[in-house]
Amino acid sequence: MPQPVLTVVVPMFDEEDVLPLFVQRLRPVVDGLGVPYEVLVVDDGSRDRTPILLQQHRHTWPELRVLRLRANAGHQAAISAGLARSRGDYAVTIDADLQDPPELIGQMLQLARDEQLDVVYGARSDRSTDSAFKRVTARGYYDTMRRLGADHGPRHAGDYRLMSRATVDAVNALPEHHRVLRLVVPQFGFPSGVLTYRREERAAGRSKYPLSKMLRLAVDSITGASIAPLRLATWTGVLGFVVAMLLLIYALVGYVVGLTVPGWASTIVIVTFVGGTQLLCLGILGEYVGRMYTAQLARPTYYVAHDSADLASGQPQAP
Ligand code: UDP
Ligand code: MG
Repeated sequence: MPQPVLTVVVPMFDEEDVLPLFVQRLRPVVDGLGVPYEVLVVDDGSRDRTPILLQQHRHTWPELRVLRLRANAGHQAAISAGLARSRGDYAVTIDADLQDPPELIGQMLQLARDEQLDVVYGARSDRSTDSAFKRVTARGYYDTMRRLGADHGPRHAGDYRLMSRATVDAVNALPEHHRVLRLVVPQFGFPSGVLTYRREERAAGRSKYPLSKMLRLAVDSITGASIAPLRLATWTGVLGFVVAMLLLIYALVGYVVGLTVPGWASTIVIVTFVGGTQLLCLGILGEYVGRMYTAQLARPTYYVAHDSADLASGQPQAP
């Protein structure tokens, strides 16, 4: 296969319902680009028929490459795995559920080449097809990130974007685990452009982003962007200390002037207040300490089971 100009990285987790529709829409787009390409589907440990369907499609679609992860590593880690193994001069990351229209890929590539851009962001002009819950949480997320001073790129840009080889190499070189790509890429400051599109509804199947994964993304984003929460911990601690000192003075004065303080209620209040702030601060510290711990373990965030490209070149396969 010739060296691809474009790698399309597609994370997929249990996407058997949408996969046929996705292939049907993506293939004419990439076939029509007129450049060598590869479509690198990262099968993020799917438990449904996704891997079987992907192998079937590979028979008729030589440009389809499948990277199978051993276990579900999560959306961001799956994209990272795909970028780490992409071979194109450019890489586009796109969700499999057709919320991001593949038809934009050609325009992204052209814009990048014509204007010598390293990044072309896809930005959603319209979120009307997202649920109210998704819109509210998305808004809260971006507002928080902005307040923390994190550059998240153009408004409403998600993970549908084109990146040059230089950008992809910069992403791959990051030692950071738990990286949130939409926060990392703008930081490089490469020349970039934006294309807006209408966010469509998920074509089939259900969202693979339950609340737990959304919260994980939020925590990774916040801790990755800033140490402000640590400072919050410090200030809550200071506040708790001041309150405790005032209560101490109150109790001493009460003792000296001979007031008998019943004390039960205030004891409970103090204990819970101090305990509460300590737990809060410990939790926040734990987030950062945990990240330092996992970073020094340098344990991978994903494990590759096999890459169909290695298979093609006759390299030995993991079972
Ligand atoms: N995805 C993944 N691993 C996960 C969760 C999601 O690879 O653990 C993929 C999923 O198959 C899809 C993309 O990430 O291609 C975005 O997920 P989804 O559309 O379910 O998220 P939503 O649009 O609901 O935020
Ligand atoms: Mg989606």
